[in-house]
Amino acid sequence: MAKIGFIGLGNMGGPMAANLIKAGHQVTVFDLSEVALNTLSQLGAHVAQDISQCAINQDITISMLPAGKHVKSVYLGETGLINHLPKASLVIDCSTIDAATAKAVGSELSAAGICFVDAPVSGGVAGATNGTLTFIVGGSADDFERAQVILADMGKNIFHAGETGAGQVAKICNNMLLSILMAGTSEALQMGIDNGLDPKVLSEIMLQSSGRNWTLELYNPCPDVLPNVPSSNNYQGGFMVDLMAKDLGLAIEAAVQSQSATPMGSLAKNMYNLMQNQGMGGQDFSAIFKLFSKQG
Ligand code: NAD
Repeated sequence: MAKIGFIGLGNMGGPMAANLIKAGHQVTVFDLSEVALNTLSQLGAHVAQDISQCAINQDITISMLPAGKHVKSVYLGETGLINHLPKASLVIDCSTIDAATAKAVGSELSAAGICFVDAPVSGGVAGATNGTLTFIVGGSADDFERAQVILADMGKNIFHAGETGAGQVAKICNNMLLSILMAGTSEALQMGIDNGLDPKVLSEIMLQSSGRNWTLELYNPCPDVLPNVPSSNNYQGGFMVDLMAKDLGLAIEAAVQSQSATPMGSLAKNMYNLMQNQGMGGQDFSAIFKLFSKQG
């Protein structure tokens, strides 16, 4: 049993903190939302009166916040937790943020004698609820080992990607590839439909051919090819366009910094931004199929 502070109880953080409580840890929570705090309190969490209580005397502090600026302001600066966290305690930031901020927070905490890993997740709200998330961790081998024990109570697959910031880089590489595969699969399926093919038959053929990929197999973007996927449920549930657009923004930022050529990623980012501008931000990311459809 560990003493854990948990900050950020939104769609992801709420169920993650609930799983830590279920696993028998002593969990103290903080969020700006009273509703989120009440929900976790009913599940057995201690509610911190202010954010510093989430750090004082904890073995581990976990955060699940929207973006880099939130992570920076929670940990650093005059009012940051850096002034309250016990020496040698471990911070695990599970938010998806830019690698540069993860490295900056990690390095300032480390200079103050506090351990840090970035541990962004894949698996969405269902994975957070069912405790089956994938964690992609950046940090030293020792800190990874320490984090792994706790992350195992919220997830299934836990990878050590490399040094601090590497978790964020690996996550955005994966999501950039995913968006490209989703766009390409949509384009190929619609071209088949436009030329008289049945998308179910075409999907079967491509699944046994060299165009096989994860989106075609498990997340087909064309409605009614697969049951129980967002495309067959009016693109509701799943992984929102807004979140994919955010991750693609981080990917392109990283590519600019490393001077990497990412023409496919840039195109995918622009397509997801276009979907946001058309009011599709709350739909599942497979709704990119609709950009190709002649029925609109
Ligand atoms: P969310 O907006 O539902 O939750 C964020 C929570 O942080 C909110 O409850 C908010 O009140 C709280 N918060 C913001 N600033 C705070 C502060 N200063 N102190 C305390 N609490 C604060 O977001 P989410 O969907 O849970 O996503 C969290 C992170 O996980 C994001 O970085 C997102 O990109 C990533 N992620 C989300 C998904 C998903 O499917 N939702 C999947 C993978 C990764």
